[in-house]
Amino acid sequence: MSIKVYINGKFYPKEEAKISVFDHGFLYGDGVFEGIRAYDGRVFRLKQHIDRLYSGARAIMLNIPLSKDEMKEVVLETLRQNELKDAYIRLVVSRGIGDLGLDPRKCHEPTIVCIADKIVLYPEKMYEEGLEIITAATRRNVPEGVNPQMKSLNYLNNIMAKIEANQAGVMEAVMLNTQDYVAECTGDNIFIVKDGVLITPPTYAGILIGVTRNAIIELAQKNNIKVEEKLFTRYELYAADECFLTGTAAEVIPVVKVDGRVIGDGRPGPVTKLLLKAFKELVKVDGEEIYPSR
Ligand code: PMP
Repeated sequence: MSIKVYINGKFYPKEEAKISVFDHGFLYGDGVFEGIRAYDGRVFRLKQHIDRLYSGARAIMLNIPLSKDEMKEVVLETLRQNELKDAYIRLVVSRGIGDLGLDPRKCHEPTIVCIADKIVLYPEKMYEEGLEIITAATRRNVPEGVNPQMKSLNYLNNIMAKIEANQAGVMEAVMLNTQDYVAECTGDNIFIVKDGVLITPPTYAGILIGVTRNAIIELAQKNNIKVEEKLFTRYELYAADECFLTGTAAEVIPVVKVDGRVIGDGRPGPVTKLLLKAFKELVKVDGEEIYPSR
């Protein structure tokens, strides 16, 4: 069965789901998006995703013509139309169709797209053995420019870092900010564990405040693990006892090597394993029901 894609109020078969070449999302990367996940009939923390989408839209003065509740319903209905209970969902709001100039005032109606498809899982081996990553030469976007807190359609910064990872033959790259502190990976937040304390870069390091990151901080606190949001350097990353990445697609993925340096004993550590397990439990209960039983 071909998937059905939501575009501005209607569902289209995948092959017919098309938008204009004059859409400023395409011409200029002018828009915002979300990557969301559904687990066994529940959309994990949908409210946080929708709030982040609307905050980004507000920052770029993009007026979304739907209420947040209506937008939630777009996501849920896309899942129902596709009869999906476990899925990866891509929600995109672009400035819409304009002319060839970049002036957003020429765009009169935002384009809203929602795609839900089967989730492509990373190989189980990656979670058991952990990833090798590199530090990218590409620095994270400065917050004074396109603020990384905004999930904008402008992902070239991340894509350049990803190319560096590809060139180095590893799966991920971590980006530093312009002050040489660790920021985040191309599509994931980063955590380290040192002497039993869980440490992750703060917002002002220049990061996207990940929905998974928030969940992991809460789960750590519930499990009496001390959490610190503070700046750390690449040196501190090399010297960490454990390291892992978090993101909607990757969930919680251990890192065992950075720039050739073995992290800890080269195996996913106990705190990483505990949080990964707790996260898997959390997603079973914490989410908006696709088919409300009420
Ligand atoms: N940082 C970046 C740059 C991302 O693209 C993502 C994935 N959306 C994340 C962090 C993780 O965020 P989340 O946990 O909300 O998926």
